Amino acid sequence: MNKKTVRDIDVAGKRVFLRVDYNVQFDNGQILDDYRLRESIPTLEYLIEQGAKTILCAHRGRPGGKVVEELRNEPVAKHLATLIGREVKWVTDCVGPEVEAAVAAMQPGDLLLLENVRFYPGEEANDPQFAKQLASLADVFVSDAFGTAHRAHASVVGVGYYLPAVSGLLMERELEYLGRVATDGEQPFAVILGGAKVADKLAILKNLVDRASLICVGGGIANTFLRAQGIDVGASLFEADRIQDAYDVMRLASSRNDLRLLMPTDVVIADAAGTRINTVSVHRIPPGFRILDLGRRTLEDMREALAPMKTVVWNGPVGFFEREPFDRGSIEVARMLADLVGATTVVGGGETAAAVAKAGVAHLLSHVSTGGGASLEMLQGVTLPGVEILRDK
Ligand code: ADP
Ligand code: MG
Repeated sequence: MNKKTVRDIDVAGKRVFLRVDYNVQFDNGQILDDYRLRESIPTLEYLIEQGAKTILCAHRGRPGGKVVEELRNEPVAKHLATLIGREVKWVTDCVGPEVEAAVAAMQPGDLLLLENVRFYPGEEANDPQFAKQLASLADVFVSDAFGTAHRAHASVVGVGYYLPAVSGLLMERELEYLGRVATDGEQPFAVILGGAKVADKLAILKNLVDRASLICVGGGIANTFLRAQGIDVGASLFEADRIQDAYDVMRLASSRNDLRLLMPTDVVIADAAGTRINTVSVHRIPPGFRILDLGRRTLEDMREALAPMKTVVWNGPVGFFEREPFDRGSIEVARMLADLVGATTVVGGGETAAAVAKAGVAHLLSHVSTGGGASLEMLQGVTLPGVEILRDK
């Protein structure tokens, strides 16, 4: 994408306002998943090397414009310090005298994390006054908060009206990979769609279908597609008002010789109690049973169909992966992508990234996005406000 990056400007000795997405969860003081923190480290190291004074700005959760003790950034600063192996100072405000003093005391190479920026109502309101106050702390604005780039908030967009705005190295990677598959991508091109809501996924399909030669459907949304084929899905959830949309996709695929739609032919099902688990043909789902994962034969067909692909985009787990043994299908799909040597493999979506992490193959894929909603919008072809604000090359 055609946006200036932190490499295109001089940051030596400068105060850099670095917006990051450190929206991570803790359980009993233990961080649950630090992928977003780890992915931000190349930018931090670059800024340190250049002798910048880096003021990190981040949010956690939805405090709704007021202080929520459990959502403070202090544990984030501490965890980041262990990851990067150097001191990360933090303050309990984002603006005001305490923060100004901390910034004034910074030396080149220092890192300072501000408090949860969503403690301020001006953040989500994109209040110009608040944005200006944040901007006054620094000389340049570097955005690495891809996961928040679909939100027109003060620290994501507003600060860019007062300071020169460029992308960080993580943002650059996100835009490169998601931008490539959203608009281009080497042929043949495959899309794997799973997850929960048909409408979200259809919007992605709408943007990608013209360039796709293979569409694999799994997960909760496949139930609606199976219904559109007239199949009885037992007690599985499906969206009655989306059956027509699913049918339209099926009709489009059958009218195009160069497009294959791969639907589940066998599935893993369970009864309401989740104790009786079985793999059956989609034509043999007993009443009261729910579809919770793809079956072995469907997965084998998928692996074979994906083999010649040069670009693969995956959004949406193909099963109820949070619960064993229904994680097997999604883990297998992650492995299929990992085995596609020479192809560009891109994963978007919060839960899909979690499934890839569970499979332990994130490092074998071209790109696993740190953005949930933001990656979906990119794949749908939407221009994100937090990207638009960045300077063009
Ligand atoms: P992402 O966050 O990656 O965009 P979604 O939010 O669309 O993904 O969907 C993720 C959810 O879909 C997961 O919580 C997963 O358990 C659920 N899911 C997938 N397949 C099924 C299924 N067959 N039955 C019930 N839930 C499913
Ligand atoms: Mg989700």
